[in-house]
Amino acid sequence: MYLADETWPELEDYFADESLALVPLGSTEQHGPHLPLATDHLIAEAFAREAADRTGTLCTPTINVGVSPHHKQFHGTMWADAPTFRDYVESVTRNLAYHGIDRVVYVNAHGGNVDHLREVGRRLRDDETLYAIEWMWDESIPELVDDLFAQNGPHGGPKETAMIQHLRPELVREDRLDDARDGGVSDVNAAGTVKHGSRTFYDAIDNTENGVLGDQTDATAAKGEELFDAAVDQLCQLCGWLDAQAFEDLMPKSHV
Ligand SMILES: [Zn+2]
Repeated sequence: MYLADETWPELEDYFADESLALVPLGSTEQHGPHLPLATDHLIAEAFAREAADRTGTLCTPTINVGVSPHHKQFHGTMWADAPTFRDYVESVTRNLAYHGIDRVVYVNAHGGNVDHLREVGRRLRDDETLYAIEWMWDESIPELVDDLFAQNGPHGGPKETAMIQHLRPELVREDRLDDARDGGVSDVNAAGTVKHGSRTFYDAIDNTENGVLGDQTDATAAKGEELFDAAVDQLCQLCGWLDAQAFEDLMPKSHV
């Protein structure tokens, strides 16, 4: 069920029986010469909508702009400053609580949002408003991601390329996959992004000239479909687990 397509009496029925919502979040940021800026929010929304359809859970509209100042040097990247993003997501989540939602999954597809979503989840749990957790699709299936690609990359690499080839093939610039690999950083481990235990870089451009990492030529739509099916299954199982928990058990434990 997609919240924005429903009428309020229909939603009244949902809130009477159910208390879980999926909130998709992504970014609008550069993804190299071959993928659209929409990459992360397209992926997040696809997962949230599919899991909502399969489990009968409510899916909210997508938060399309995230915490992406580390991609700002590339044309068109949009971002919200981290404190503003946290406050905005907290506010949106609190209004879901007002309608009766007491557990939320942030269906996230942008690494830069992770720490901030965890912080918002902590705030909301500490004051016992609701229980909100962050879910990142590739972290739900790490072995499969490793198995499918010889040279992965944390950003704009083959896993995200394969996902968009599967979800929105018309948006992938297939003739630029070689450029993406050759103009970026194909072997992340060899790139020396960590020096003596410190992450010395701040922006993507400090490591990669064209903004991406990994070997994009290894991506196919079939691999994207395999990743999507495996991760959506994880998300559905997470919904089932959350649904089965008593609210008290999700709240902070008492002081010893
Ligand atoms: Zn991305």
